Amino acid sequence: MNKNDLIVIGGAGGFIAGALARYFRERGFTRIRAVDKKPLPQWYQRVPGVESLCLDLSEEANCRRVCEGAAEVYNLAADMGGMGFIEHNRVECLRSILINTHLVEAAWRAGAERFFFSSSACAYNTELQKDPNVRALKESDAYPAMAERGYGWEKLMSEMFCQEYWAERGLPTFIARFHNVYGPRGTWDGGREKAPAALCRKVIEAKDSDSGQIEIWGDGQQTRSFMYIDDCVAGIDRIMHCDPLIATPINLGSSELASINRLVDLVEAVAGVKLERRYQLDAPRGVAGRNSDNTFIKKVLGWEPSFPLTQGIERTYRWIEQQYHERKAGRRTVS
Ligand code: NAD
Repeated sequence: MNKNDLIVIGGAGGFIAGALARYFRERGFTRIRAVDKKPLPQWYQRVPGVESLCLDLSEEANCRRVCEGAAEVYNLAADMGGMGFIEHNRVECLRSILINTHLVEAAWRAGAERFFFSSSACAYNTELQKDPNVRALKESDAYPAMAERGYGWEKLMSEMFCQEYWAERGLPTFIARFHNVYGPRGTWDGGREKAPAALCRKVIEAKDSDSGQIEIWGDGQQTRSFMYIDDCVAGIDRIMHCDPLIATPINLGSSELASINRLVDLVEAVAGVKLERRYQLDAPRGVAGRNSDNTFIKKVLGWEPSFPLTQGIERTYRWIEQQYHERKAGRRTVS
């Protein structure tokens, strides 16, 4: 790709797309157009040298406007959050279909060379995820379909749009199914945060208030894999530029399975505390277990996410701790 080609990134006021804009900027790309519906002061990061636009991408006219002249379009815009958010806001999650529907059409009309869609492990059949000792999910496990209600079905339908834009209209589309992404500069408070950030914040609060306790959603035995943000953006770049992956959904996640209890152990170790765990059995907990089968990504890319969870949690904790104290001191924070 030419360094002066226009790259459009949707959802760039958010966690992953903000990191992606920085990633391309640091690699010398000169024309990056970052778009999000959030007002600019609320973006998690604003990257110098990147054109940043506040526009709602569920509006067709805005999608046409941002895709004008684009060589590559990345759709990471979605109304999303952790289990607490997606279980209680199914309409909002489903409405994200408007974003991808208009953006892929606009990219095709603009003659873009490549289009990327951020799908999710929530697109997989939930029937296969009832046991914490999971069999890792492989790409073919999405069908027969029984995705997460709302959020997961939107992802599955948008994947299909991407596949048909390739099959019927010849737009090369690329689809990654992310498994829990975490790291600094993401949501850590307010109800949309996911487990790693939420647990870091809860441990920081417990330390600060000297409560000696932490509330955990579920019984703590539910398992997931967690991918550090640097692996995620590197993976997006590799997937988007691998022609054998056109219109072929692929897992992008760590294959290191960890229970929520283990995650708490790691956060406690970084914080230097040991807390009494109070399990909230009626809180949203999602599926019992989920892991990423990385056989396909290793075969096709010769690579898989591998950033160690202990180091990633340490970096995430330190960043959230700093944010927490900034906020307490009355300064503005990103979440
Ligand atoms: P995020 O909430 O931090 O970022 C999403 C951004 O999209 C937000 O800034 C939001 O304002 C923006 N957005 C929402 N509706 C919009 C609209 N109509 N127009 C323009 N912008 C809009 O979330 P994230 O963690 O960075 O997730 C990015 C993508 O990755 C999403 O598609 C998400 O579903 C997917 N994903 C994330 C994870 C994860 O663990 N973080 C896991 C699986 C899939």
